[in-house]
Amino acid sequence: MITKFIKRILRRDPMVKHTQANNTGAPKRIPKKSHRIDPHLLSKNAVKVTQTLQQAGYEAFIVGGAVRDLVLGIGPKDFDVATNATPDQVQRLFRKARLIGRRFQIVHVTFFGKGHPEIIEVSTFRALLDNAGDHVAESGRILRDNVWGSQGEDAARRDFTINAMYYDPSSETVLDYHGGMVDMQKKTLRMIGDPTKRYREDPIRMLRAIRFAAKTEFTLDAATRAPIAKLGKLLQDVPSARLFDEILKLLMSGYSWAAIQGLRDAGLHHGLLPLLDHILDNNEASKGANDFVKLALANTDERIQSGKSVSAGFLFATLLWPDLLQNWKANIAKGMANIPALHDAMDDTIATQSSGMTIQRRFESDMREIWSMQPRFEKRVGRYPYRLVESPRFRAGYDFMLLRCATGEQNPAIGEWWTNFIAADPVGQEELMARAKNESGSTLGSPVKRRRRRKPKAATPTEPEAS
Ligand code: ATP
Ligand code: MG
Repeated sequence: MITKFIKRILRRDPMVKHTQANNTGAPKRIPKKSHRIDPHLLSKNAVKVTQTLQQAGYEAFIVGGAVRDLVLGIGPKDFDVATNATPDQVQRLFRKARLIGRRFQIVHVTFFGKGHPEIIEVSTFRALLDNAGDHVAESGRILRDNVWGSQGEDAARRDFTINAMYYDPSSETVLDYHGGMVDMQKKTLRMIGDPTKRYREDPIRMLRAIRFAAKTEFTLDAATRAPIAKLGKLLQDVPSARLFDEILKLLMSGYSWAAIQGLRDAGLHHGLLPLLDHILDNNEASKGANDFVKLALANTDERIQSGKSVSAGFLFATLLWPDLLQNWKANIAKGMANIPALHDAMDDTIATQSSGMTIQRRFESDMREIWSMQPRFEKRVGRYPYRLVESPRFRAGYDFMLLRCATGEQNPAIGEWWTNFIAADPVGQEELMARAKNESGSTLGSPVKRRRRRKPKAATPTEPEAS
């Protein structure tokens, strides 16, 4: 099998020939005293899956990012298992097992415990594909690869050396086919095989490179980094839903600010997040916008790192806000009234973003809600505050407004007022509203009747509709 494989590789690509020939032989076996994986970081369910498969006579390992994280001493957020059992054979061994996927057929084994159910993703060792036939698009992009192979082949088709290690919990041994452990020590992110070819096969790997570099603080190996500048445009060919998922992973990684910087340094943000182009240019004119996005992402990273949830709608609402604000101000300067100016600006901002990567509809409606709530925070009299607090997305709108206060784009007194209002009892709330009414000359709320008399051209986005 291996000889056949090496022969096939030798026929194909001289660069791959060199790397693969050295690496598809026996893997390096790394004992516990060298890899030092803490068994407490393992998921009991993942171990159960490997044991069940092994007891049925199959090979089974924890694989991929989980092994990388375990070696780094980080508790993996999810566990993948690789096996030589076919998906059907896997499915037969577990009660709660579901076959999923078309591009990659895998089995999800679900465990119900005290907290959330845990899904262990079990995939069958896959073969490398020939650069021919209907599996590969003209650009070299792989379309389908459901051909089973050996563990060595499976390792060679993974992306980075540090993502291609296999851990057997029963023997506590790591199998390393591509020098992943040495790269872990050198803190290097290295693509397996010829990076250009691997990026052509799947351009998403460029985004993964940036995400893992941000997460691990590893350096991209020079040969792994070099082709990205030229091949970044291949991301345009990736189906929009997959691109969106990957960008979301990057933003939700807990290292989003570092990852966004990485995208900029690699020149990959152009076309993905077109509205970030000018923000990331880091010049004086974009400083305010840059501060806002930086704060929003730092806030997101902190939430994720402390195990809190973050909504994707909220995240995209923050990334696009600087552009929206600019459009909103421009509309007002053209003589539009405050609220229509905002709604028109929202349409523009979303249309510009869609020219790069389309944001899924359900997130788009969250974004619109968060944005359209912003002028409502200015109105702090009558029934307005009560109504606003009752709106289903209030919390997101409020958090968003606090971010605006933190960068000084919104009056911090308004943020404070709302924080007090939420915490106050009914009497306290009445007092707060009375105080808001008496404050004059500030950006404080006022009754809607007076707002209607206001001349639109005097309004600005940070002002209420009347004062
Ligand atoms: P994390 O789950 O922390 O985001 P991960 O490395 O586990 O990181 P997954 O997307 O869960 O990432 O993929 C699991 C493994 O599958 C990877 O570690 C890698 O070995 C392989 N893999 C995933 N995506 C690709 C890809 N696009 N090309 C090659 N191998 C991939
Ligand atoms: Mg994973």
